[in-house]
Amino acid sequence: MDIITVDNVSMIGRGLWHGMPAFSDDYSSNCYLIDGGSELALVDVGFATAVPQLLQNVRSLGRDPEKIRKVFLSHAHADHTAGIAELLRHVDAVVYGHALTKETLCGGPGIYRSGFLPVDPVSAPVHEVIREGDVVRVGDVELTVLGLPGHTPDGLGYLISLPSGFSCFAGDTVDGDQPVKSAVTGWMNSVWGSRVSHLRASLSRLLNLGLHSFFPGHGDPQLGQVAVRDSLEHSLDQVHRLLSIRDLDWLIAIDV
Ligand SMILES: [Zn+2]
Repeated sequence: MDIITVDNVSMIGRGLWHGMPAFSDDYSSNCYLIDGGSELALVDVGFATAVPQLLQNVRSLGRDPEKIRKVFLSHAHADHTAGIAELLRHVDAVVYGHALTKETLCGGPGIYRSGFLPVDPVSAPVHEVIREGDVVRVGDVELTVLGLPGHTPDGLGYLISLPSGFSCFAGDTVDGDQPVKSAVTGWMNSVWGSRVSHLRASLSRLLNLGLHSFFPGHGDPQLGQVAVRDSLEHSLDQVHRLLSIRDLDWLIAIDV
């Protein structure tokens, strides 16, 4: 197990990803622990099968899982959210997410195209709907909500000021650059409302923030301004190449 800690953020969950070993369960997204002192929070959860290992990883860091009071969701996809109900059997936490995330997890169409049913639909509460510009405290730490649509329409990022500089939990807007640089953003599909031009705007926005690190939904965190810039520019380059392909709108909603 290789828990990465940056200041008061620890990556406590990761599924299999481009040859990198899992340390929660195989198919889950990354899960991050924020230590705000008086309380803890998670960003994304993963599948239910990941939850016992996540709680164990919190304990292995010397923290008490009972102090987890908040859960922030990056978007509705099951690999990030399916474990919420299981988590809430163990901790008394408020779940925060986009209105479309809430609708999706309540069984409505949400992010999905009308008539499309996800293979593994999730039923879980989103207690607090949040949007661009909202600020939520986790003990001594402040998170500012960023709207980051593109991969899905409900994409949210969470900007956080760490001692080492500004960082952002980026969900599937951008994945950590991998040993093979083929997967730099979450899968795009019109079934879940992907919009490539929106993704380009979200990536540009992250690039212009001058972040010192970012915490992606899959892959390793990017640490240092140079790594962050290189990773985001690489992702933007891939998106520009995608936008240059004509007649791809049968697969991806291109609106340029
Ligand atoms: Zn996703």
